[in-house]
This record gives sequence, structure tokens and C-alpha cells, in this order.
Amino acid sequence: MSLEERIKEVNKRIEQACLRSGRSAEEVNIVAVTKYVSTAMVDKVLGSGLKHVGENRWQNAQEKWDTLGDRGTWHFIGHLQTNKVKDVIGKFEYIHSLDRLSLAKELEKSAASHGLVIKTFLQVNISGEDTKYGLAPEEAASFLKEIQSFPHIQVIGLMTMAPFEEQMENTRAVFRGLRELRDELNRTGVTKEPLTELSMGMSNDFEVAVEEGATWIRLGSILVGKEEEE
Ligand SMILES: *Cc1c(COP(=O)(O)O)cnc(C)c1O
Repeated sequence: MSLEERIKEVNKRIEQACLRSGRSAEEVNIVAVTKYVSTAMVDKVLGSGLKHVGENRWQNAQEKWDTLGDRGTWHFIGHLQTNKVKDVIGKFEYIHSLDRLSLAKELEKSAASHGLVIKTFLQVNISGEDTKYGLAPEEAASFLKEIQSFPHIQVIGLMTMAPFEEQMENTRAVFRGLRELRDELNRTGVTKEPLTELSMGMSNDFEVAVEEGATWIRLGSILVGKEEEE
């Protein structure tokens, strides 16, 4: 399948998931995850009408960003080491992986020195697997309170990763859990602005994530492919 065909197919599946759950497809944004592919492929992705690209390691992203940075909106989706913050600030508009106070402090310092506000998702480990990064759900409220005083960090929502499941349906509880946590945090009003966004769903499980309220889905293999398939 060509990139255009894959985009069409993914959009169709998003629309169907929205129909099943009474949502509007306009609420669902796609982050094209380009970590498996070359700069030339990212060029094609940005030429296809997709605007948002996601990378999980600065080392892999650097050449792509240096070549194509101004043509897209960049999302940092992987675990972010504190000593890499200075590399990504000012380049990546969104960080999907805010998961600890030391990272928040470094982001605040770096964003302040660039005179910008960085949009972030709080990463939450809903499934509780110890191989996954993220705060425990019960830590989210106090963490958000603690970083209220960081004016250069704007938390716009929550992010999670579901375990890999053969049956997509088995991921539903994780995605629902993230949505319910967001709604609960909004009810108790721990943030000045309500958290509107949910970053959840990947190639293997995005339809269930959309049904459960995802506003950002992060699609690599199913959409962008892997380089050896090109
Ligand atoms: C790689 C990656 C994705 C995309 O994975 P696919 O299964 O290829 O869609 C999404 N989110 C994160 C955090 C990733 O590291």
C-alpha cells in the first residue's frame, strides 16, 4: 500500500470508530510516528498533508528535524532523559512523556530560558506494568498540584500506553481508565484549565482508544510503515 492509501484507510477506520462511539472525527488528531523511517520518508509524510510527526529519541530525530523541522509540528513521545531536554526544547512543541518531577523542573528551566511555554501530557501508567514509564494514577493529582507553579509548562492532558494485546478489545480498560482519570482530575479542579487531551492508541489498538475518547493517536507502523517495506 502507498502512503496515501494507508492514510485513507486509517482515516476510514477512525471515522468508523467515531461513528460507533458518537464522536466527531475532527476531535481525533494523528501523530505520524516516524521513528522507524528515514528523513526522505518524513519528507513524504509532511508532503501528504499530515502535520504532526512524533519521534521517541533525539538521536534518531536530529537529522530529520534539522532537515524538515519547520515543515511540521514535532511531538516528543518517548521517555525523555533530563540531559536531553536542552536538545528538544524549542524544536518539539509537545512532550507526551512528562512522568517525573525532575523532568518537569528541567523542562521549566529550559522553556523559561527560551521564553516559551511547552505543551505536555502527563504520562500515566494505567496498566501498572512495571516495564512501563509513567506516574501511578493515584500520584497524578499531587503531581499536577506541584507543577502548578511552573509557568512554562502547560499540561494539556494525559498520555498512556496499553500493553500489547492480540485482541484489541483487551486494551479497552486501560484507555477507559485514562479517560476516567482525566475526568476525575477535572471534577476536582486540580489544574487551572481543564485537561482536554488524551494521547492514547497506537497501530495495534487505536480504534478502541478512539472509542474511549482519544484526541491524539500515535501511529507508526500502520501509517508510516517501516523503512524495509518501502
Ligand atoms: C513507537 C511508538 C508509537 C507507534 O507505534 P506503532 O505501534 O508502530 O504505531 C506510539 N507511541 C510511542 C510512545 C512509541 O514509542
